[in-house]
Amino acid sequence: MRTADGTKRRAPGTERPRIAVIGAGIGGLTLAGALTATGTPYVIHEQTRELAEVGAGVQLSPNAIRPLLRLGLGPALEEHAVRIEAMEVRGWNGRPIARTPLGHECERMFSAPYLTIHRAHLHEALLSSTDRDSLNLGRRLRTLEEHPGTGDVRLTFDDGTSSTADVVIGADGIHSTVREVLRRDDPVFSGLGIYRGLVPVDALPPTARERLVRLWLGPGGHFVCYPVASGKLLSYAATVPLDGPPPPESWSREGDPEALRAAFGTWTGLVADIVHAVETTHQWALHDRAPLKAWSTRRITLVGDAAHPMLPFMAQGANQAIEDAMDLAACLTGASHGAIADQLSRYESLRMPRTAEIQRGSRGNAGVLHLPDGPAQRRRDAQMAVHASLRDRAPLYAHETGRSVVPLVGAA
Ligand SMILES: Cc1cc2nc3c(=O)[nH]c(=O)nc-3n(C[C@H](O)[C@H](O)[C@H](O)COP(=O)(O)OP(=O)(O)OC[C@H]3O[C@@H](n4cnc5c(N)ncnc54)[C@H](O)[C@@H]3O)c2cc1C
Repeated sequence: MRTADGTKRRAPGTERPRIAVIGAGIGGLTLAGALTATGTPYVIHEQTRELAEVGAGVQLSPNAIRPLLRLGLGPALEEHAVRIEAMEVRGWNGRPIARTPLGHECERMFSAPYLTIHRAHLHEALLSSTDRDSLNLGRRLRTLEEHPGTGDVRLTFDDGTSSTADVVIGADGIHSTVREVLRRDDPVFSGLGIYRGLVPVDALPPTARERLVRLWLGPGGHFVCYPVASGKLLSYAATVPLDGPPPPESWSREGDPEALRAAFGTWTGLVADIVHAVETTHQWALHDRAPLKAWSTRRITLVGDAAHPMLPFMAQGANQAIEDAMDLAACLTGASHGAIADQLSRYESLRMPRTAEIQRGSRGNAGVLHLPDGPAQRRRDAQMAVHASLRDRAPLYAHETGRSVVPLVGAA
C-alpha cells in the first residue's frame, strides 16, 4: 500500500527503521562506525564531493578515545596520533601557572591515553570503520519534511534528488540545515577570532618536539599548541579579540601571518618562534549557540555541533560529537520502527545536560582565559594551579557512552 506522495506504507513496528545521517564529519562518521559495528543499516548524505578534512589538529580526551578503541580504531589512531605526556599552562611572559600530568597516569586512571591528531588523520580513521557503500557524496540536504500520517521523513537535495527515511540524524555541523528545520536560531558571535595552522617541528627549537599540550594566557587572547602527524607538525591555535563585524565564517579562510606576528610576536620563547615560522595561516570568527531545550522530534534528531556548537575553550567539540554518536547508536541499535520516538527522546535526555554544561563552561572560559594582568589574573592562576590534577578532570574524562550496545572490538 502506498501513501499520497508515493512512499511505501508499512505496519508500524514490522521493519527495521531506515536511518539517514546528514553529514560525514566527526559525529556522522562515528555514528556510522558504531552502527556498522552493531550491524544496523544506514545511509549518510555528505555535501562534499571528496572527503578531505580542512583544519589543523584536534585534542582527543579519554572520554572519546575509549569508545573509539571499542570500535577497533586503536591501530588507525596509533599510526598518526601523538600520546600527550602533560598539559602545561603559562602566562604570556612564560611564568608557569599549572601542569596536568597525562601520559601513563591518564591511561591508568581513565583506561585511555590523551591524544592529539591532525583532523584529516582522525577523519581517515573514522572512515575506515564505516560501510563505504552507505556513503553518498555530493548530496547537500536542502529541506526535510516529516509526514504527519506515516511518520516518514522526506529529504530533498540540492542536486534535485529526494529520498525517504524513518529517522534522520543531523550531523551537519554548526550551520546545520537539519537544526534549521527544528528551530530557527542564529549562531552567536563571541567577539573573538582564531588563527589556526601547522608548522613543521624541524623549523622550531628542539623543545617543540616535547609531547605537550601547551597554553599561554595573556590579556585578551591565548595561544595553544601541540604536536600532530606522529610529531612531525606542530598545530597551533591563537585566539584574539575581533573588532567590528565578524568576517564570514569558514574554516578555510586565509589569515594574515603578519597580523598573527603583530599579536603574538612579543610573547615568550616558543610562541614567538612559532609565529615567526608561520608562512600561511587560517583565521575565522568564533561562534557558538545557546543550549537548546529540545533537539529531537519523533523522527529527527541532531548530533555534534548541529546540536550544541561550542567555543573551543574546553577542547570538547569533537569529543562530545563522538560521545553523542555512541549514545545515539546505542539507542537506535535493535530499535523497532515503532520505538524510534522513545529512543530519540532517551538519547536526548542522556546527552542534553552534559553537553549544555560543557557549552556553558566553554563560553565561560573565554572570559577566564583572557584576563588582563592584575589581581583577578593572579587569583585565576592560583585556582588553576590548585585544580590541575587529573582527578579534577574525572567528570569529563571518566564519562562512559554507548557502552551497553556497541561491542568491544579489538580494543588496544
Ligand atoms: C579552532 C577550533 C579548535 C577546535 N579544537 C578542538 C579540540 O581540540 N578538541 C575537540 O574535541 N574539538 C575541537 N573543536 C571542535 C570540533 O572541531 C567540532 O566540534 C567538530 O568538528 C564537530 O563535529 P561535527 O561532526 O558535529 O561537525 P563537522 O565536523 O563540522 O561535520 C559536519 C559535516 O556535515 C557536512 N554538511 C554540512 N551541511 C550539510 C548539508 N546540508 N548536507 C550534507 N552535508 C552537510 C559538512 O560538509 C561536514 O562534513 C575545535 C573547533 C575549532 C573551531
